[in-house]
Amino acid sequence: MKFGTKAIHAGVEPDPTTGAIMTPIFQTSTYVQESPSKHKGYAYARGANPTRNQLQKNIAALENGKFGLCFSSGMGATDAVLRLLNPGDEVITSNDLYGGSYRLFTKVYERAGIKFHFIDLAKAENITPYITPKTRLLWLETPSNPLMRVIDIAACVALVKKHNIQVAVDNTFASPYLQNPLDLGADIVMHSVTKYLGGHSDVIMGALVVNDEQLYKDLAFVANSCGAVPGPQDSFLVLRGIKTLHLRMERHCFNGKKVAEYLRNHPKVGKVYWPGFNDHPNHDVAKKQMRDFGGMISFTLKNDSLENATTLMENMEVFSLAESLGGVESLINHPASMTHASIPREERIKNGLSDSLIRLSVGVEDIEDLLADLEQALKKVS
Ligand SMILES: *Cc1c(COP(=O)(O)O)cnc(C)c1O
Repeated sequence: MKFGTKAIHAGVEPDPTTGAIMTPIFQTSTYVQESPSKHKGYAYARGANPTRNQLQKNIAALENGKFGLCFSSGMGATDAVLRLLNPGDEVITSNDLYGGSYRLFTKVYERAGIKFHFIDLAKAENITPYITPKTRLLWLETPSNPLMRVIDIAACVALVKKHNIQVAVDNTFASPYLQNPLDLGADIVMHSVTKYLGGHSDVIMGALVVNDEQLYKDLAFVANSCGAVPGPQDSFLVLRGIKTLHLRMERHCFNGKKVAEYLRNHPKVGKVYWPGFNDHPNHDVAKKQMRDFGGMISFTLKNDSLENATTLMENMEVFSLAESLGGVESLINHPASMTHASIPREERIKNGLSDSLIRLSVGVEDIEDLLADLEQALKKVS
């Protein structure tokens, strides 16, 4: 099946009792059994729920994976992966990460005795000096948040596989429509379902997809033991959202390209970060591992001051000033004070995330209105 057909049909069956074409919301905490040792596959809803099960199958199919697991947030999904580690284990990851991932790694898991190496992964070979016998996990985020850096997933996998290191990819920015890390050799794909998969800014959810059955069982054990599972209503909303993922992504990519090009040609705009530009440092990698370049763009103003950036953000009318991304509506965000405020300033600046960087999540509105909005707000900056 091709992507759009899978988005609509994979994992979902008409309800066997009524024929309802839409997956029912099984709003129940428990299930009546015939006898103590006999049930219909469902015993207690922390362990399994039919609405959630269909969603898990659907997301797994979109990532060309065998097993999917949903969590109550993207961070819940990431947390489940890290719970597979033991004190003394080491993780290699990039120095341009979602702020919440950085916070979970440094504030929660460093305290639990896990060591993290935050390095520049623009070149896969940068990993080699950090590999030790204790390295267990390589955590990748590509394209990265917010600097839109691109990491060569297949090259990283090739480097670490012989050392028995698992590779997990946060695929939130690309969505399964643009990139499928399992096909490139990764062991685990993670999503903040909150973003493109949900797509309508009305649900917080996370997901993991894997091919290895033992790894799936280990993660399912964590999900059930630790309990960060999503509810059936949210599972329904995401199943519904995913049915238009391919249509939304097409428009996100179309609008993203137009906005990126518009910004790059604007005299008041400084640097524009978008992997679709020919001169993006890893454009060739992006072209190879992604189907298109998406609607996430970061930029600075030529008169690069926090004050000027603030003027722009306060004067946008169609773009809303808000955290998050991947919804149908266009958002503008100030990473330094919003999504990435949990990264210490010194660390942030060192990694190229300036105080004045602006991030856009380009939505699926009409492009003319998005460009006109940028035009009127840019008139107000110096
Ligand atoms: C939002 C986000 C997360 C965290 O997901 P939540 O659903 O907010 O918990 C992780 N990674 C990336 C890249 C994100 O954008």
